[in-house]
Amino acid sequence: MKVLVFGSFNIDKVYLLERLPERGESLYCKTYEVHVGGKGLNQALAFKKAGADVFAAGKVGAEDGAYLTDYLKAGGVDISAVYATGAHTGHTIIEVDPDGQNQMILFGGANRELTPEECDRILEKHSDADLILTQYETSCVEYMLEKAHAIGMRTALNPSPYVPAVKNLPYGCVDILILNESEGQNITGEADPAAVVRALKKLGAGTVILTLGADGAVYFDGENETRVPAFHVRAADTTGAGDTFTGYCLCALLDGKSPAEALRLGAGAAAIEVTRPGAAETIPDLDEVLRFLEER
Ligand code: ADP
Repeated sequence: MKVLVFGSFNIDKVYLLERLPERGESLYCKTYEVHVGGKGLNQALAFKKAGADVFAAGKVGAEDGAYLTDYLKAGGVDISAVYATGAHTGHTIIEVDPDGQNQMILFGGANRELTPEECDRILEKHSDADLILTQYETSCVEYMLEKAHAIGMRTALNPSPYVPAVKNLPYGCVDILILNESEGQNITGEADPAAVVRALKKLGAGTVILTLGADGAVYFDGENETRVPAFHVRAADTTGAGDTFTGYCLCALLDGKSPAEALRLGAGAAAIEVTRPGAAETIPDLDEVLRFLEER
């Protein structure tokens, strides 16, 4: 199975402080950590760990992007369509206090410099992929979905993070729409998950998968609705839960598994991931996920 993940590749810089700074104030931090991130990177790794051949596509800075491409390569992901430009790699400055409250500065950088010509180049090379998966952290998402759909590729969209422009994405070009509850509520204006998935389906997507955090996930294809609970675990850090779920669940669906089986696999992988601090680095291997599911 071949999957093309067109998305963001980000450096996360995490500063732990005694407290978040006031306006105009300078504070020393207690610790500083650098992590790989970006929804494209996380979902590419999750898909790879679930068993797919993954081709990452996107853009990083020529000088500071190797940290990310080396990490993907070491994880077995093909990086030949991750272009390096003169711009800076996308990064996030994350300030965290001891209670876990945070504030962030997001810099899209190279992720937001992808052009339609580059999208064409990517598709020319990878139109044989079984699925193209994208999110909303790069430029050209609309273009990529429309083009991929027009040439007959199967498409999946995780319309995240939510910004009002997400409401105008070409949902009729999306075969599988996968998103979390607050994103679904923001897009549709509905509150109840059953109403949210129905309203999302009306936008034109083939299948809708709505994740509900510790309450599980719902699959709706217009006729059948399948709901699967989350596993009870002691969550340490839920960052990356949705990305882990997305890679594993979509891989199982492409593999011909039933919606219930696919959602359960996604939930198992995400349950393990949330027990560990971190995101990309803590996505479990398939063996571990299968053992976890066997024990339940
Ligand atoms: P996102 O990370 O995009 O906000 P969710 O919070 O909906 O997405 O989480 C995605 C999936 O991860 C859920 O459907 C669930 O299976 C799993 N998950 C998330 N939080 C927990 C938790 N506290 N305990 C167990 N599983 C969780």
